[in-house]
Amino acid sequence: MKIIMLGAPGAGKGTQAKMIAEKCGIPHISTGDIFRANIKQGTELGRKAKTYMDQGLLVPDELVCDLVVDRIKQDDCERGYILDGFPRTIPQAHALEDALSAIGQKIDYAIDIDVPDENIIDRMAGRRSCPKCGATYHIKYNPTKAEGICDVCGGEVVLREDDKPETVKNRLSVYHEQTQPLIDFYSERNALAEINGVQPMEKVFEDIVNLIGA
Ligand code: ADP
Ligand code: AMP
Repeated sequence: MKIIMLGAPGAGKGTQAKMIAEKCGIPHISTGDIFRANIKQGTELGRKAKTYMDQGLLVPDELVCDLVVDRIKQDDCERGYILDGFPRTIPQAHALEDALSAIGQKIDYAIDIDVPDENIIDRMAGRRSCPKCGATYHIKYNPTKAEGICDVCGGEVVLREDDKPETVKNRLSVYHEQTQPLIDFYSERNALAEINGVQPMEKVFEDIVNLIGA
């Protein structure tokens, strides 16, 4: 099963992708997580990506496409995968489509988690992330058991630099300009599924499970 998660930043792509990956036993590939890991390790890719991420801009396609195309060729992707945060531009979607069609494959589902901008602001302002293990929480909708402490690894959870309100505004306009056109792209390929993201996480998950028949 090859799945793409579409949706605005903060729509709940990562939250759902983790649960689906676990249920289906396929890898969850988040380009945002890959960049953050590179930043932490101080790699050249991380250094380049950070300059864009800090401003709420997209990392250039040429730094993203090969990375994902190489990743999905790895052995653990043989039974499928769930892409979270990729593609984010039409050229990225073409790069993925070309790489897949070269081996006679295509995406099964592009799942768009639909959440209006006003809810997004609230989601991002309340998101807390663990820099140590990558777990995410929300101060209202999915709080940590002990305040400020990651349930998974005991690390200190933080507000991501790019979740600060001034950057969120940029990320949302970048989303509408560059990523939203992917909804039509996948609709034209009969791969699009729209899911109402303004429901409790468990209900969003149930809708996705019913859609993909997992
Ligand atoms: P994305 O990966 O799309 O950027 P996340 O999965 O990190 O988004 O979710 C953004 C924030 O919203 C997180 O703090 C998460 O806990 C919270 N969240 C996710 N899904 C829901 C939901 N259905 N209802 C309320 N809050 C949610
Ligand atoms: P995310 O964790 O998915 O919210 O991504 C965080 C940031 O990483 C984004 O705001 C972008 O700057 C960058 N990023 C992640 N995925 C991509 C992508 N597919 N194309 C370009 N930039 C990306």
